[in-house]
Amino acid sequence: MPPGFGNGTSSKNNSLPHANETGEKKQLNRTLSPGFRKESGSRNDSFGNGTSSKNNSLPHTSGPNEKELNRTLAPGFRKESSSRKDSFGNGASSKYNSSPNAGRPDEKQDNGTSAPEFLKESDSRNDSSQSTRMPDDKLLDGLLAPGFDERSCLSRYRSSLFRKTSPHKPSSYLLSKLRRYEDLHKRCGPHTKPYNKAFKRLKYSHGSSGGCNYLVWIPVNGLGNRMISLASTFLYALLTDRVLLVELGNDMSDLFCEPFPNSSWMLPKNFPRGVEFRSPDKRHARGYGNQLKNGIINESMESLPSYTFLNLDHSHYDLDRLSFYCNQNPTLLRKVPWLFLISDQYFAPSFFLTPTFKKEVQRMFPEKETVFHHLGRYLFHPSNEAWGLIIRFYQAYLAKADERIGLQIRVFNTKTTTVQTVLDELLKCTQKEKLLPQVDPQSPVATPSKNQRSKAILVTSLYTEFFENISSTYWAKPTVTGEAIGVYQPSHEEIQHFGDNMHNMKAWAEMYLLSLSDVLVTSAWSTFGYVAQGLGGLKPWVLYKIEQGNTRNPSCVRDLSMEPCFHFPPTYDCRTKTKMNAGSLFPYLKYCEDLDWGVKLVGDHQELQL
Ligand code: GDP
Repeated sequence: MPPGFGNGTSSKNNSLPHANETGEKKQLNRTLSPGFRKESGSRNDSFGNGTSSKNNSLPHTSGPNEKELNRTLAPGFRKESSSRKDSFGNGASSKYNSSPNAGRPDEKQDNGTSAPEFLKESDSRNDSSQSTRMPDDKLLDGLLAPGFDERSCLSRYRSSLFRKTSPHKPSSYLLSKLRRYEDLHKRCGPHTKPYNKAFKRLKYSHGSSGGCNYLVWIPVNGLGNRMISLASTFLYALLTDRVLLVELGNDMSDLFCEPFPNSSWMLPKNFPRGVEFRSPDKRHARGYGNQLKNGIINESMESLPSYTFLNLDHSHYDLDRLSFYCNQNPTLLRKVPWLFLISDQYFAPSFFLTPTFKKEVQRMFPEKETVFHHLGRYLFHPSNEAWGLIIRFYQAYLAKADERIGLQIRVFNTKTTTVQTVLDELLKCTQKEKLLPQVDPQSPVATPSKNQRSKAILVTSLYTEFFENISSTYWAKPTVTGEAIGVYQPSHEEIQHFGDNMHNMKAWAEMYLLSLSDVLVTSAWSTFGYVAQGLGGLKPWVLYKIEQGNTRNPSCVRDLSMEPCFHFPPTYDCRTKTKMNAGSLFPYLKYCEDLDWGVKLVGDHQELQL
């Protein structure tokens, strides 16, 4: 147990550094203001298997601005949702066990807000002619196209005000692909002539496809899973000249801005309901692998079905994955005008394994570990509402600190893993890697210094206990370095919700806030953390997952790259018809530190010679 942090068995008793200070601890707990306290006494175990997240919506801070925070966040954060009971209540892992969201898109566009704080440094750039003269940093080295109406999406051109300039420049080839894609999307996007033709073909199974092919992404699982799979799907669209449309459903509709200029990526509302997204059986029956296997489609056919499914989500059904990753009959798939792709995986690395796409992706990403970093920053711009959550929190609590430390704490199995074990492992990690300052148990007050530095610790978790422990610790004793420490947690939702837009918006805001960290600690297996590290271009320290109560030594490891891990890569080599070890084929694809059988793209020293 690192010195300075509590070692009790429950978070209620672990807020102070040393066992011999129990009296003081009690006193401290008594004097905690409501914002420092766990509000809900209704949970009957340390992780709360309750189903309601009532009263847990206000952010936590140990900084001075609690009132301000409450003012800022309370109204929007209070909306409650219908939580899925089984998401955590049964104590089992909530990963990879949800069904796809099949709600109709709500097509609600981000109309923008013009709140004064958003406009303070926008000068007069809010029309497209002026935007085209934007400086490079606003456009993220050319990643973003100029010409969007800034007010409709305030975050798009402002991320550079909050995030350090990335040392990773997109290749000119990637930029040309993106610009070409934007033209394609504008020409073929919803309600254009080619779209209407392709739509008719889909609806009535006849007519020409209008010259444009489509790739419809269908969400499944949590937001992190969705975002990494959406980025992979976009890469596939770029590689195959398909128009990406997204079925955002009703729980993601207000999270992001439109990424493509002068068009929309939302699947139109009047989409034929006959195309059944929801039922796995129907999706599988209409799946690519199944159709190939049963001869429903083949190379010699003149007229192919107007659509097929690519079921690439993590499930027992693997026929589509096999066919897709083997890239069987690639020309055949190209002839199908509508592809519906469902995935919760970061399958982008699979294109580096496929002869058809390998050269192209290597040209697009000579720095192979930047795939999500570039595509994520290109695609995912917080909507104005989400941006409001992000910048209010950032400006109030994080902006002024000399250093920002993000701690993303995800606990998958609440039955077998206690708060205290996770906390102990986290603190072992931060202690060993010197990520958090130590407290000085001997002195009540730090030696005054003229240039006192400050650190802001951003905790994200479904629970409050980690925040409570860390903030109490830094309140109770000064740091040995004399640094002033603020500890902040935007929300604690208690359980993962499904079908709840505001819940997802908080998650998105927190991922984005984490991505603004200077130092990041994430949790093994968690795609939530992957999004943050990828957007921020950060190589985090990954806290190992505690399996059946078993911890590891050391408790965390520095990640190999900023890329997300592809949790379930192909394991079968279709050419040799033998088992394949994807993580040992190329120097740029390695087994993940946080998941033995997953693979991730890493820096390759020869990459600049390509
Ligand atoms: P993963 O399950 O860790 O890979 O991440 P996902 O994002 O796919 O799914 C977890 C979901 O649980 C998130 O999308 C949120 O809905 C919720 N969640 C988990 N951890 C947090 C957290 O720290 N903050 C918030 N706001 N939500 C969280």
